[in-house]
Amino acid sequence: MPIETLTAGHDNYLYLVHNHDVAAVIDACCADTVLRALDERDLTLGWIFITHHHHDHIAGLRILKEQTGAEVIAADDPRIPAIDRRVTDQEMVSTPVGDFTVLATPGHGDRDISYLWNGSASESPAIFCGDTLFVSGCGRILDGRAEELWASLRKLAQLDDPTRVYCGHEYTEDNLRFAVAQFPEDQAYADRLAAVKKQLQREGGSVPSSIAIEKQCNPFLRCRDLAEFTKLRRQKDHF
Ligand SMILES: [Zn+2]
Repeated sequence: MPIETLTAGHDNYLYLVHNHDVAAVIDACCADTVLRALDERDLTLGWIFITHHHHDHIAGLRILKEQTGAEVIAADDPRIPAIDRRVTDQEMVSTPVGDFTVLATPGHGDRDISYLWNGSASESPAIFCGDTLFVSGCGRILDGRAEELWASLRKLAQLDDPTRVYCGHEYTEDNLRFAVAQFPEDQAYADRLAAVKKQLQREGGSVPSSIAIEKQCNPFLRCRDLAEFTKLRRQKDHF
């Protein structure tokens, strides 16, 4: 089942999961980007999965819903328009492009959710984690609380190592510069920064990562406790 990365705006990511006939999209910052991608691939959009209410994840939602009639799946959140199905933690959404398990991952916002695409015999699972977990980073604490984000990151770190990580923005190089600045003695961050720079030049993006890579090269997942995490998150805010 192809998972295709679409880029929009300055650094936004959207993802198409499809079977060459019908598709699901994760997040809806920009309707035109999604509509063009569907058209080019001759796909019908059946499902729109929303991770959270921030404008850069829902700005295209109404138009996309109007143009495609796709089912909108999101947390029970009045700030998100046009929801058809309100989902909660551990709920499963079954589609022809696979089963998606909802994981409540608040902390960046207060009602953020992630979607675990459960994979297949030949494909590793994928986590669509919005602005909760980034490659080598995590979201800012905006409407949520530090202890929520810490718990959400711990939850994502429990996923199987090969799980592919698809996040909401391309912030990886900045995140790794921060990690190297904070932990100059840690070669894992320096090596990863060098590898990511090459990857960005070659491919223009750094997704997907994997849970295994993030456990090794994400300073927020490597924090030992909430206090350490909260301090590091504050330092990143001012980096
Ligand atoms: Zn956000």
